[in-house]
Amino acid sequence: MSLELSQIATLSILYLSLLFCAAWLTDKGWIPRSITRHPLVYVLSLGVYTSAWAFYGAVGIAHEYGFVFLAYYLGICGAFLLAPVLLSPLLRITREYQLSSLADLFAFRFRSSMAGTLTTVIMLFALLPLVAMQIQAVADSIHILSNEGSQEELAFSFCVIIILFTMAFGTRRISSHEKHHGLVVSIAIESAVKLIAMLVVGGMILFQVFDGPKDLQNWLITNQAPLETLRLSLDDGPWRTMLLIFFAAAIVMPDMFHMAFTENQKPRNLGTASWAFPLYLLLMSLPIPLLLWGGVKLQTATSPEYFVLGIGLDIGAPWLSLLTYLGAMSAASGLIIVTTLALSAMVVNHLILPVFQPDTNINIYRWLSWTKRILIAAMIFASYGFYRMLSSDHSLAPLVIVAFVACLQFLPGVLSTIYWPHANRYGFCAGLIAGSSIWFVTMFLPLVLGTEVLAFFTDSIFFLQADWHWSALISLTANIAALLAVSLATELSSEEKHAAEVCSIQSLGRPSRQSLKAQSPREFQEHLTGPLGAYTAQREVSQALYDLGMSLDENRPYALRRLRDRIEANLSGLMGPSVARDIINRYLPYEDESSGVADINFVENQIEDYQHRLTGLALELDNLRRYHRQTLQHLPMAICSLGEDGEVMMWNQAMEEVTGIPGSTTVGSYLGSLQAPWNTMLSHFEDNKVRSREKQQIKIDGQQRWFNLHKASIEGDGTVIMLEDQTEPQMLEQKLIHSERLASIGQLAAGVAHEIGNPVTGVDCLAQELRDYSQSQDAREIADQILEQTKRIGKILHSLVSFAHTGQASEQMTVESVSLYRCTDEAIALLSLHQDTRGIRYINNCHMDYLVSGDIQKLTQVLINLLSNARDASPNNAVVTVNTIPWEHSITLEVTDQGSGISEENQKRLFEPFFTTKGAGKGTGLGLALVYSIIEEHFGTISVRSPVNEGDQGGTCISISLPRHMAELKSSTRRETEGNLVG
Ligand code: ADP
Ligand code: MG
Repeated sequence: MSLELSQIATLSILYLSLLFCAAWLTDKGWIPRSITRHPLVYVLSLGVYTSAWAFYGAVGIAHEYGFVFLAYYLGICGAFLLAPVLLSPLLRITREYQLSSLADLFAFRFRSSMAGTLTTVIMLFALLPLVAMQIQAVADSIHILSNEGSQEELAFSFCVIIILFTMAFGTRRISSHEKHHGLVVSIAIESAVKLIAMLVVGGMILFQVFDGPKDLQNWLITNQAPLETLRLSLDDGPWRTMLLIFFAAAIVMPDMFHMAFTENQKPRNLGTASWAFPLYLLLMSLPIPLLLWGGVKLQTATSPEYFVLGIGLDIGAPWLSLLTYLGAMSAASGLIIVTTLALSAMVVNHLILPVFQPDTNINIYRWLSWTKRILIAAMIFASYGFYRMLSSDHSLAPLVIVAFVACLQFLPGVLSTIYWPHANRYGFCAGLIAGSSIWFVTMFLPLVLGTEVLAFFTDSIFFLQADWHWSALISLTANIAALLAVSLATELSSEEKHAAEVCSIQSLGRPSRQSLKAQSPREFQEHLTGPLGAYTAQREVSQALYDLGMSLDENRPYALRRLRDRIEANLSGLMGPSVARDIINRYLPYEDESSGVADINFVENQIEDYQHRLTGLALELDNLRRYHRQTLQHLPMAICSLGEDGEVMMWNQAMEEVTGIPGSTTVGSYLGSLQAPWNTMLSHFEDNKVRSREKQQIKIDGQQRWFNLHKASIEGDGTVIMLEDQTEPQMLEQKLIHSERLASIGQLAAGVAHEIGNPVTGVDCLAQELRDYSQSQDAREIADQILEQTKRIGKILHSLVSFAHTGQASEQMTVESVSLYRCTDEAIALLSLHQDTRGIRYINNCHMDYLVSGDIQKLTQVLINLLSNARDASPNNAVVTVNTIPWEHSITLEVTDQGSGISEENQKRLFEPFFTTKGAGKGTGLGLALVYSIIEEHFGTISVRSPVNEGDQGGTCISISLPRHMAELKSSTRRETEGNLVG
């Protein structure tokens, strides 16, 4: 009984298209992420491992070696049960450095493109038999089912179809980042179908071929002979070697590597896989003995490997055969697709790109994807050629074993990557060459040439090939021995040492702090345009910035170093670590390769990420570190620490408050690039020899501030600087000095006024008398002049007295609500009485409703003084304006003129009594001193701005802030709330 070839072909293509559709829908985002990213999907996608072997080869092995067939499952289960110490570290490295294949991993770890190239070449040879086996399995099964067509033709057609699908599946999207979610989903579906097919076949055999478990038991008891092999002692034969090669498969087979690491979306999924994948394999392996027994009982005509197809036909259930065929066919396709995809990336990264780089004008992503397509086609055809070279009645098992033993040669390299930092590139290459040469001669060649050709040697050198597991063990031993010996005999380069530390399971990367030639992400782009072309350079830099959450304006050296690492990792995902490293080292070099101290920030960030993995003493130390760090961070004193080169290493909270510069944007930048004036103040102090500096004066937002600076050097690691804000004590001190001076001058003035007042009154009376009664015209004129002078003295005495009064008599002040508008109005009216021909105009822009608490007389005096100063300084026909600005608790009054302005020098002395620039007899220098004491009495503040606007030539604005009157305060808040309610 057989099926139509056309039926089988249509069904196959339909089924593959279905898988492709699932992939396509996933890539389009039409299948919810919760499904596509589910851990179960990841676990099932690992099922790519089982390939067509699970259906065919395993039964063959069971027939030949008995329970040894379990090694295929147990080996890889072992690897997954050891996931935390074996797979997780590898996953960490591959994710962090975007390493997409074993060749990438080795090229990265050994800092050698040779390692990558060698791995790729060996991999290409190793996988020929494996892919050929899948082709053969599919061709054979179609032949068995349909009895039509020659196997070669069937195999060829299958190859063509699978090439089309692989191209469509894997190479559609290429970037340094994207994963093939669609591929993962369709492989997962395929694995689920495989499992169902396997379980259905098992069930059918148990209940159709046998009559349930009881019947099976009876049959087993009565038919011991054909089952002899199952009872072979496990000590015999290749059991242990099998376990070993299948154990290694989890990490060294490119399909497994690709699925487990490259396509891993969440590291956590590996945890699920560590138990779920072994479970999957257990279920897959359960029906194998049943298949064997069923085949034996039915005396199925096919070879044991194809029992699974034959049984279906024998019991008259062709759908069963078809189901298993579909399972096996899709398993074979899955393996071919994933393997060739992974290999194509390896070939591009390690064979093509190192010697040929595409023109930078073309779209590099498209170029890569087309190159990979061509490579995939070439590899599948090569495998087809290999299949044709072999005699077609070859059983499947040797093909698989030859491939796996070759891949086993990578195991020492992988293990030393995570566990032996002393391994170096020479050791690795030597081991690989030694092991794979033995494999090539004792396993590959005999497979290709056939044992007869080599029979001539068989008795002598190549006795090994008769027992393949000896061949495997000897090649592995040679490999390990060469790796150890050569690594110990040769030196590790510093670059390699660094990579070894990064990969090693217990260590964090300890990058050094060097500065880059490129100073900004934009310069990165420019530099990379050379090797990558403008488009790719721009895209990669933005991608890396996005990954790190940085902006294009970033210019902190620390951040730029991270950016450089990120770009290297991303490029490594795109074109392999060797090429990426070459490009980065050449086009984004460091200033000076030799210098560089440990990058503490980076180490610290890494420890932060690493914390949950710390235990024991390390955890205690980390807690201690945290405690000290927190202490420094929350210290109520502003401190920052600097590296030797002036890079900011720490910026504590108090520092953030004092400077208003957040630590997150400061740490990792140079002192010089801080905001002014901090940059100059701190870097001057840092460069200077003195250990502390008192009352350093700087201006921030137009306000004077004073700081004490102290520093100490951290041995060999830079300096720590402490900043003390002295502004408040300094202001208080100045105020105190000023008030004291005012008070003493007030006393003096009062005394002087009193003492001089009487004689001057006397002089005045005498002069009047002289004027009224003198006969001489001259004498009368002199008397007039004396009178004028005494009037002046009187005026001065008057202002001295009023100054003396305000200086002391605060208890006399009556506090009431004062309208600044009214004060201003009155002051302007008084000034206008003055005979003035200069045409100065006063404009009162004060708000009528703004009330302050104070003494109306004194505040009017203040305004008179300010306005008269403004008038004196103004040119003819100028305007003097007065306006008010409301605040929550105070009102600011500003008197602005367009006059000469006040030099910075004079601004400092403005409020000193007797300071005047006006000529003798014009000014007393007491006006502003009086204003100052009145304002102080009112608990207000006064400040001067000259010139009024930056860039102006002159003009002065004197602003006074006075407390708002309470009643006004209440009503204004009421007004506001009402306004809010209405609004
Ligand atoms: P006086 O007016 O008697 O000189 P003041 O204490 O009122 O004394 O002023 C002191 C000095 O401050 C003045 O001599 C003048 O140089 C300067 N000054 C005050 N106000 C202004 C102003 N609006 N524009 C320019 N200079 C001013
Ligand atoms: Mg004056």
